[in-house]
Amino acid sequence: MSDSFSIFEAAAQCPTLIGLRRAGVDYTFETLATLTRNTIERLRKENVLPGAGRPMIIEGSNTIETIVLIYALLELRIPALMLHPKLTAAERYVLLQSIREIDDPLPDVTAAVLFTSGTTGLPKPAIITRKMLWESAKASETNLGWEDHDCWQLCMSVTRIGGLSILTRCLAARKTLAISPLFSPESFVKALTDDKVTITSIVPTMLAKIFETYPDWKAPEKLRVILLGGSSANDKLLAKAHQQRLPIVTTYGMTETCSHVVMTPYAERYDLVKGSGKVIPGAQVQIREGQIWVKSPMNTPGYWGRKALKSDWFDTGDLGEFDQDGVLHVHARRHDLILSAGENVYPLEVENMLTRSPFIKEALVLGEPDETWGAIVCALIVPEKGTHPTPEDVRRFCKEMLSAYKCPRKIVFVEAIPLNAADKPDRRAEVLQNYTLTALHYKH
Ligand code: ATP
Ligand code: MG
Repeated sequence: MSDSFSIFEAAAQCPTLIGLRRAGVDYTFETLATLTRNTIERLRKENVLPGAGRPMIIEGSNTIETIVLIYALLELRIPALMLHPKLTAAERYVLLQSIREIDDPLPDVTAAVLFTSGTTGLPKPAIITRKMLWESAKASETNLGWEDHDCWQLCMSVTRIGGLSILTRCLAARKTLAISPLFSPESFVKALTDDKVTITSIVPTMLAKIFETYPDWKAPEKLRVILLGGSSANDKLLAKAHQQRLPIVTTYGMTETCSHVVMTPYAERYDLVKGSGKVIPGAQVQIREGQIWVKSPMNTPGYWGRKALKSDWFDTGDLGEFDQDGVLHVHARRHDLILSAGENVYPLEVENMLTRSPFIKEALVLGEPDETWGAIVCALIVPEKGTHPTPEDVRRFCKEMLSAYKCPRKIVFVEAIPLNAADKPDRRAEVLQNYTLTALHYKH
């Protein structure tokens, strides 16, 4: 692998190898280098290149133009400020305002500034250095290895770390990056075959949507890894993936650690998944009073315009534990923990239990602030197709399966779980304003 992330270097070394594939059409590294050279010339001519230490905004979807623009900025060592293409004008405005006042230049080792997903508040502009991307590429090479005709599908936005790190891994290893339009089950499944994909990265909601459209979906033979991360997958989904013999490698990580620092060992990809995986070589993960802390060469130096992070250890804001096999289990975000009548309720635990019911397909558990109890456990429930559960059915099931304090006191049946811009379950209490909840009465 090369750590320079230079498309020109890649073209000089292996001009005829396929660097990019889209809808079955191949682009060699030589062609990509030509496109990049043209883009650089155009940027120079149009006088749009920013001054030293200033970033250039990239907000496109996963098109060839966007990918080539990223190659150009990596070549020119200009940081890319990534904005998700699905942002509304108002959201875009808020994010740009949040960095408008900054005039400290970025460190010259910065490859990109990536906003976190904004699950817990306003997205934060994390600095991603070239070294972080390089260490991340090395780590995935160690676990997954590279095979001759590997092709890694990019079906998440390249403006997020899960996407950008695929681009840099493929570039460093001179392997094929396959770009797909934004995700739909149909386009995903078609692209896997058309583009001869061997590795793909998705989040659990995407896998759930694939099974919704194709209940008996089996991976094409060539597909050797499905990286699954970004949020936790419930046991029912993982059992289904196992039943269909999907090569699942679960991962745990975040923007600030340049994607995953924990992953399932490659050799275990056909086993029934039990957690997020094991700590990858070079990274360290500690559990301090139930909270997950990470130290790794992939850790960000900080957020743009804010003081550098003081410690080498990053406080992830997540709660979890290791089992006796060294597998990490993420229980909740600290932010999502429901403190009800002095007891801790972990939404993921309750969701997992709820989805064991034959009539509950998906569930989202969150706390509604309450003066007396601190918070009330609420559940949004998507019924299994063809079933028509009543609130009383839910109450009976919960009473049997969960300690009283964990049982949802209020529920609502919904058609789909609310997701945030990063396709993660949106557990903010504000979400409840959109629903009328039915109170359930328990007598334990
Ligand atoms: P923000 O920091 O803006 O609130 P975010 O934390 O969702 O948003 P990302 O950096 O995209 O932004 O996501 C990282 C987070 O995603 C982790 O801290 C964790 O909460 C969650 N996550 C990632 N992988 C997993 C996993 N395997 N299981 C459970 N949660 C996960
Ligand atoms: Mg975060």
